[in-house]
Order: sequence, then structure tokens, then C-alpha cells
Amino acid sequence: MPLFYHELLPKKPLSKPLQLSNDLCIMWMSRLLARAEQVGKLGEVPVTAVVLDSFGRCIGHGSNKREEEKNPLGHAELIAVRQAAWLKEDWRFNECTLIVTLEPCPMCAGALVQARMGQVIFGASDKKRGAFGGTLNLGIHSSAHHKMTIKGGIMQLEAQKVLENWFKQQRQLSV
Ligand SMILES: [Zn+2]
Repeated sequence: MPLFYHELLPKKPLSKPLQLSNDLCIMWMSRLLARAEQVGKLGEVPVTAVVLDSFGRCIGHGSNKREEEKNPLGHAELIAVRQAAWLKEDWRFNECTLIVTLEPCPMCAGALVQARMGQVIFGASDKKRGAFGGTLNLGIHSSAHHKMTIKGGIMQLEAQKVLENWFKQQRQLSV
């Protein structure tokens, strides 16, 4: 019986990320947003992420843990990627998809380029800090050494609402 995830994979893993149908994108985003609301109740900015392998299986998940870990690197994307890398026993993610509720910041976008993430799907755009088209686009920057598929705006309104509600609540709490 296989003990590790990579032992379950076929000898030659698929080299391309999964083509996710719109329904599947919405299913994942709904789950991530529901989880984000829970995370928000713990005092963290409500952002959550998953990494899917080329078969569509979740191999990593993360939520923002900056406050809990007192760590500026505690972003949902980085936590999900770290977990998936451990499971995959590889740092290359060409065949994988990262789904996140908010457009990645420059730190996470840089890490996703370094990880050679095949595909990134996000919910709310971030006009102030987003690094996949919001303020800049590291996915198409000359420093990006591989082709990455980027798709934003999945459940955009709902994803924005989760963040807006959280910031509104925080302002009320601080009065
Ligand atoms: Zn980030």
C-alpha cells in the first residue's frame, strides 16, 4: 500500500495544469470563501487558498496566518504551496493550479513564479496590491521564466464582499 502521495501518482505525471470548468472554479471558490469567513473571525484578513494537482486533487491548503504566526510570510498562498511541496516532494508546480480568494500580492506572486505554478485562479482583484494585473503583473514580467495561466474575477463580487465586510467589522471593533 502506498504511504506517500507521490507514490499514488502515475509514473509520468501530467505536464499541464487541469482545465477547470466554470462550475468547478465556482465550487472551489465557494468553499474557499466560506473558509475565509471563518478565518476572519479569528482576526486574520480573510484570504484562503488551495493547490490542485493535474488531476484536480487538493494537495495543499492555507489560510492567512499573519497574526497567529506573527509572521509577514504567513499568507494563504505561501502556506498552501509549502504544504503541497512537502506532499509532492518537489518545488516545481508546472502541472498545478493555485486557487485563492484574493489576487496575490507581490510577495506571493513572486513565490508562485519561483514555484513555476502552471495556473493561478483568483477571486477579487486587488487594485492596490495585486501583482497579477492589479497594480503590476509579475506573471508576464520579463523575470518570469515560464508561462503561467492567470484567471481572475471568479465570484468577484462575493469575494470582494467577504473582504469588505471584514474590514468594516474591524473598523467597528476599533472604535
Ligand atoms: Zn501574499
